[in-house]
Amino acid sequence: MENTIMNFGAGPSKLPREVILGIKDELLSFRGTGMSITEINHRGPDYIEMNNQARDLLRKLLNVPPTHVILFIQGGGQGQFASVPLNLMGRTGTADYLVTGIWSRMASREAMNHGEVNLVIDSDDEKSIPDQKTWKLNPNASYVYYCDNDTIQGVEFPFVPETNDVPLVADMSSSFLTKRVDVSKFGVIFAAAQKNVGTAGVTIVIVREDLLGDAREHCPNVFNYELVNQMDCMYNTPPVFAVYVFYKMLQWIEKQGGVDAMEAQCAEKSKLVYEVLDQSPDFYFIHAERNVRSRINICMHIGSPTGVLELEEKFLKEVEEKKMLQLKGHRFTGGIRISLFNSITMDEVRELLAFIKEFAKKYK
Ligand code: PMP
Repeated sequence: MENTIMNFGAGPSKLPREVILGIKDELLSFRGTGMSITEINHRGPDYIEMNNQARDLLRKLLNVPPTHVILFIQGGGQGQFASVPLNLMGRTGTADYLVTGIWSRMASREAMNHGEVNLVIDSDDEKSIPDQKTWKLNPNASYVYYCDNDTIQGVEFPFVPETNDVPLVADMSSSFLTKRVDVSKFGVIFAAAQKNVGTAGVTIVIVREDLLGDAREHCPNVFNYELVNQMDCMYNTPPVFAVYVFYKMLQWIEKQGGVDAMEAQCAEKSKLVYEVLDQSPDFYFIHAERNVRSRINICMHIGSPTGVLELEEKFLKEVEEKKMLQLKGHRFTGGIRISLFNSITMDEVRELLAFIKEFAKKYK
């Protein structure tokens, strides 16, 4: 069954057709059980086997070292905005936050409920990342937190922050498995699954093992990294369907050539898009500064740096007529957002770019 629409949404976002069809085929009977994945006991052998396979495959694909554990937790990306301080901030009572966009700002505000937060960077334009040499990190911080790719403004860290042995925490919700990362440099990496690796409901949390065990007393058990780890990700009922879709996505990524292939494809897709947009710099206004442009979410206005509403509405109407959907910018920013998650193909990108060129020709 061919798909006739192209979905450039920022999340929940497109899943590969092959993955959706695989789920459809297996929906009535998971691994020959005669029951669907949503109906089987999560403490039975079939679910436990899949839970372990998903963790093992992620460990292999991302080269997660034995010093780090992999957890599946509910509550989405924002659940981790609270879980991170609840689990880690008790160590010194204070944490450093690099605020470069809306998601890291929200995370810092949530953390303020749990201890002292030092805003090392507090971006007011949300389009740039100040030089690391100018940051004043607190050597006593429990951790340094940043958002690797701000999905709303299209700003991505082109480097991993250096924290001088203070544990580094990264929200990789929109960049997870789009590039190789050296996991050993991180205290915690978390990612809500609904962008690059599946569907909403599960958040993947990779934690350095020596950071377990310091959770605040009032940390809810379901968010307590140590308890979730002790219970093999099944402290309570796990989000079984979301973990299943995550595993399907991991298998698909492996088949495509692994994280290296995702990284190469992501670089190529975003390069093509920026090349075309840069041909009309007085018409398409990219939000992020050049050196921090996201490879995954390309955010722009049309007609002026803050956007000409009429032109942007025309763009969205005409692009939808061509069956390219969910290109509207986030409700906080407006404008246009092109999301190039792992499932987006080069053909889809080419088709969108043909439209973008035509549109500029017509209305510039
Ligand atoms: N962090 C980033 C980078 C995001 O893009 C999002 C969601 N779009 C979140 C956190 C929040 O995730 P959730 O909606 O699952 O809470």
